[in-house]
Amino acid sequence: MPGYTPPLRDMRFVLHELLDVGKELAHLPPHAGLDADTINQVLDEGGKFASAVLFPLNQTGDREGCRFDPASRSVSAPAGFRDAYRQFVDAGWPSLACDPAFGGQGLPVVLNNALYEMLNSANQAWTMYPGMSHGAYECLRAHGTPEQQALYLPKLVSGEWTGTMCLTEPHCGTDLGLLKTRAVPQPDGSYRLSGGKIFISAGEHDLSANIVHLVLARLPQAPSGTRGISLFVVPKFLPDARGEAGARNPIHCGAIEHKMGIHGNATCQMNLDEATGWLVGEPDRGLNAMFVMMNAARLGVGMQSLGLTEVACQNAAQYARERLQGRSLTGVKAADQPADPILVHPDVRRMLLTARAYAEGGRAFSSYVALMLDREQHHPDAAVRQAAADEVALLTPIAKAFLTDNAWIACSEALQVLGGHGYIAEWGMEQYLRDARINMIYEGTNTIQSLDLLARKVLADNGAKLRQFGGKIRAFTDAHGNDTRLGEFIAPLADLGDKLGKLTMEIGMKAQQDRDEIGAAAVPYLRVAGHWVFAYFFARMAQIAIERESGGDDFYRGKLALARFYFARLLPETAMLIRQARSGAVSVMAMEASLF
Ligand SMILES: Cc1cc2nc3c(=O)[nH]c(=O)nc-3n(C[C@H](O)[C@H](O)[C@H](O)COP(=O)(O)OP(=O)(O)OC[C@H]3O[C@@H](n4cnc5c(N)ncnc54)[C@H](O)[C@@H]3O)c2cc1C
Repeated sequence: MPGYTPPLRDMRFVLHELLDVGKELAHLPPHAGLDADTINQVLDEGGKFASAVLFPLNQTGDREGCRFDPASRSVSAPAGFRDAYRQFVDAGWPSLACDPAFGGQGLPVVLNNALYEMLNSANQAWTMYPGMSHGAYECLRAHGTPEQQALYLPKLVSGEWTGTMCLTEPHCGTDLGLLKTRAVPQPDGSYRLSGGKIFISAGEHDLSANIVHLVLARLPQAPSGTRGISLFVVPKFLPDARGEAGARNPIHCGAIEHKMGIHGNATCQMNLDEATGWLVGEPDRGLNAMFVMMNAARLGVGMQSLGLTEVACQNAAQYARERLQGRSLTGVKAADQPADPILVHPDVRRMLLTARAYAEGGRAFSSYVALMLDREQHHPDAAVRQAAADEVALLTPIAKAFLTDNAWIACSEALQVLGGHGYIAEWGMEQYLRDARINMIYEGTNTIQSLDLLARKVLADNGAKLRQFGGKIRAFTDAHGNDTRLGEFIAPLADLGDKLGKLTMEIGMKAQQDRDEIGAAAVPYLRVAGHWVFAYFFARMAQIAIERESGGDDFYRGKLALARFYFARLLPETAMLIRQARSGAVSVMAMEASLF
């Protein structure tokens, strides 16, 4: 049986020692009074909820899955999910980072982010229900009319109603320009929507009294492609005159998918048969409206993977401390035992440290991005807000793709630590690996994230955003360049920054002749950028650890050892990735289509 302990010590380190969030939040008027004690208390309580309520439902939810009843077209979540959701709502968790104008508690994204890491460690499938709702809340808050906001936001904020995002159709996933769902205007200002959506997470379930679907569809005469897509709010039950769930709207679940992981989350086929909806934002500008919530949602997927990385890592470490196999190459370590714990073996340690480096690097990086989201939303100076928005735009595809790719690696290594037992369901490791796989696919596949990074975020502005973030890294390497204790971190970090700059220029030049050069280089390019960002945060964490380890706190010794492992064993991957990215489009494009 796996276990889970919320990593509160490391969270406090990241928030207070690495990022000094109190100082940053003091500049943001809505959060100016938030002190470290309150932040820590919220983390403690969130950790208790995650470990005590959600974690025990993770394996049972995976085994049981969701059930679809064709007669009533209803979906039941696994046993215990509904009760856990009620407890979540009663405790006020859905409203944590929501606007007080709609009943929210107005706490910062960076805190909500840490909460979601713990929820995801405990139970990713369950966490997707409130997670999807938060996305719907963000979208309506940014683009809903005052009437729509008054009607839907308080219920989404309290968690009484949940939300979805209905984009995908059978013939269109990545290329939403192909979507066919139709919306016909009605004399009363509403629309009738008809069409079929697939793969809709939390599209139907028994956790909440109503489900608010945000649906992409086309108006009559809309231009083809992505410029002709509009966004609609389509509730499962139409709000009555009092704003309560009223008549059933014909948006029904036709089936649920049987899939590799996240069995406790209902992935639904949704049929709209002249369902009533209302336009959100401007006609034909639906994709733009959706993009508002994309940064937060993509970071949210990164947090799903960070949660899995952490819990897989914890369980593998626990196993390695107890499992006795073979003797250490340097002589017996546990003489009172028939064999040594497998933790003595260098390669077992490599696997554990790989998972842990991806967990702790991911926690530092994702918390930083979340803090930049807070700054983007609330800093009083417009220029500072814009700079934060540019950083978020640059870092979001990296957070989504790098963290989710790393989780796949980390969960696989963690499973391997358990040997054959890792492959057996009882230990929970194979579930983490299965659950982690979807995070690389939805919310824009990782290939699409890499194209977004290279083409839109880097090359489109001639590297301006990249240089802006690089300036922060350079300020750090300049400030600590003479500190010999940090030489092992500063030199490779600065060197990788130079190489990334050169690589960017080289791809940009090649792309002027052949656009396939971008597609051929993008995936290794994003991974190089991800390592560059991780190296920056590990160097900063190492600097703090070096300053503080003399106090005798083991935590800092562990942090320093992990940073050294990261630089020695994971960062060198960039040499191969740079060669791959530089090798160009020829090797992938040369083979004729008929030969595949
Ligand atoms: C469990 C689950 C839950 C989901 N939840 C939701 C949800 O709540 N709401 C929702 O709307 N959707 C949801 N999705 C859908 C998900 O977002 C899509 O599956 C995803 O966007 C990819 O679309 P697709 O499956 O049609 O693949 P395709 O778009 O057909 O892509 C197939 C492959 O081609 C690659 N590819 C496609 N276009 C390009 C390109 N231009 N350049 C390079 N490579 C390309 C892709 O990267 C991928 O590897 C969910 C899917 C699953 C499996």
